[in-house]
Amino acid sequence: MELREGLLEQQPVRVKDIEGVQKTFFDTILDVFSGLRAKLIVPYVLLTMVIAMVGVYVVTNLVTSSIRERFINQLFEASRVVADGFVRRESGHLEDLRLMAYMEGVSEAIQERDAEGLQNMLWPIVMNNQIEAVTVIDLEGQEIMTLAVEPATNQYLVSSGGDFSQFDMVMNILKGEMDQIGDKYADFMITSFGPYLFTDAPVRDSSGQMIGMLMIGTRLESVLGDLKSQSLADITVLDRSGSFVATTLVMPEEGVEVLEVDPQTITQSDASMTHKLELYGRDFQAVIAPLIIRQQEMGILSVVLPSNYIVSTMATSRNIFSLIFALGTIATIVIGYVLAQSIARPILRLRSISQAVAAGDLDQNTGFERSDEIGELASAFDTMTMRLRDRTAEAARLYAETIERNKELADINARLQSTQAQLVQSEKLASVGQLTAGIVHDVKNPLAVIKGLAEELHEELGLDPSTRAQLTTIRDSASRASNIVTDLLKFARQSTPEMQRRDMRETIQSSLRLTEYLTRKGKVEVTIDLPDQPVMVTFDAQQIEQVLINLFTNAVQAMDHGGSLRINLGRAKGAIAIAVQDTGMGIPKQNITRIFDPFFTTKPEGEGTGLGLSVSFGIVSRHGGTIEVESELGWGTTFTVLLPEEPTQPIK
Ligand code: ADP
Repeated sequence: MELREGLLEQQPVRVKDIEGVQKTFFDTILDVFSGLRAKLIVPYVLLTMVIAMVGVYVVTNLVTSSIRERFINQLFEASRVVADGFVRRESGHLEDLRLMAYMEGVSEAIQERDAEGLQNMLWPIVMNNQIEAVTVIDLEGQEIMTLAVEPATNQYLVSSGGDFSQFDMVMNILKGEMDQIGDKYADFMITSFGPYLFTDAPVRDSSGQMIGMLMIGTRLESVLGDLKSQSLADITVLDRSGSFVATTLVMPEEGVEVLEVDPQTITQSDASMTHKLELYGRDFQAVIAPLIIRQQEMGILSVVLPSNYIVSTMATSRNIFSLIFALGTIATIVIGYVLAQSIARPILRLRSISQAVAAGDLDQNTGFERSDEIGELASAFDTMTMRLRDRTAEAARLYAETIERNKELADINARLQSTQAQLVQSEKLASVGQLTAGIVHDVKNPLAVIKGLAEELHEELGLDPSTRAQLTTIRDSASRASNIVTDLLKFARQSTPEMQRRDMRETIQSSLRLTEYLTRKGKVEVTIDLPDQPVMVTFDAQQIEQVLINLFTNAVQAMDHGGSLRINLGRAKGAIAIAVQDTGMGIPKQNITRIFDPFFTTKPEGEGTGLGLSVSFGIVSRHGGTIEVESELGWGTTFTVLLPEEPTQPIK
């Protein structure tokens, strides 16, 4: 049965049925993350993204650190350029001083305090070497002459008569003090034109006697301006005491604030360090170191470069690299997806087809024409499906054959069983019949004698009523016994039926007429269902009448409190069928096999002989027919007499 269901009853499932199943969004998401495609794509995507992120981080850091390194280098370079610039400027001053001091007539003019002569003599050098300020001072520290550019007009002005004896840098020279390098001196000086870098030198006469001194100065604004354009950095200068001197920064409020460090702590080693500053709300980095001129600390030099562009460069490069990596990642993912699809799609199709095949649709074919491993797999699958299809068809054919054989066997078995039952019944009847035939004559005659004598005695006069009643009982009992014996005789005689072709409807109706009294008395409602046309059958009418009367009587007796009796004439199982259906008590299952046995009765003593059905069975059997019974306890019983229209088997 299971095989039959598997092969024949199950509807084959087509690929499109499987693929076309309505899926919820959740199912789809699950599919996406659990399927082959996900297994191929997800790690690939994750790896790509991780590489991209690490790449962005590393490259941004590399770029930033190289920018930072370049920045620091630039800052140190700027610091060096500025420091060298000061030294160079000081050297320039020295050269100019030498030119002027050794110029012919200059020492004489100083001695004579000839301001005009000095002006005329020095003017060509001042002009050629673009000297911003030159001052000639006598031995008392008094200004003989100054030639200086006025910043506002950019015109040279000449002045004289100033007292310079208050300035250390002047007095040091005049006192003949020497520094490590020689008798010159350099320092800042705040003038009415702003702060200057001055270099002073003594002027001597031909005998080597100091007769006065020369000062050459450059405005720090010019120095710093030049240095800023060379170094591209902003520069702040403090003097030895840490006081602010000049800066290229815009509006510094205080020098110390511009530095953000304590100038007193600055040493030469600071030249190799950078300091972070915040000026005007922007980030700067500075190299703050002593300003060394003439091998002496002349002040403090702070060189600053704005560093906020590093942060912004970092952000910019991070953005650019993020964009590049994002585009790269997208391209990689797209390529990966396309690759994964080209691998996954045929595999998923193979899966769908194998599911369909597993569900019973063996007409599937992959249809792949590929020369790679997937193509080989598909062709192996197709071959397998084809073989499976052939085997299944073969199995189905064998199965159908088996079913057919089974049916035939069941049929043969049923016929065998019924034949066997009939044989058993016939056997029983035969033995009972022989027995009965032997004794029936011996019993019947004495019974007739008893009955006759009882009747005779009953007629006699003068009998008391009780004796008469007993005689009546004797007569009735003998009469009943005689009836039994007569029935037995009929049964035993097994007379050959007188077969005639006639209308079965008439026999049924005459049987009903004979039992009319019985049915009326038993309050049984009779329904007759006969065809309109004659039902011609070859049979012994008297015997079949006897069978029917017996069946009607049993039916009425089974309906204690009335009921309905339905008689139907028709055809069934290739025979004429007379169905006698009652609504009586029914027959218990265990009795069904016994009711056709001779002398089997469930009726009270004296009411049944137990021979009716066995005699009827004998008659019907001799007609080549059979009697079937169906009964349900409490609901009723149906006896069906099946008679062949023309008996074929020899009647004995
Ligand atoms: P008898 O009628 O003398 O008992 P039968 O051979 O006619 O003998 O019947 C045998 C038994 O079969 C009956 O005693 C009864 O138990 C049962 N039987 C026959 N016909 C019916 C019926 N229509 N409904 C119920 N039981 C029946």
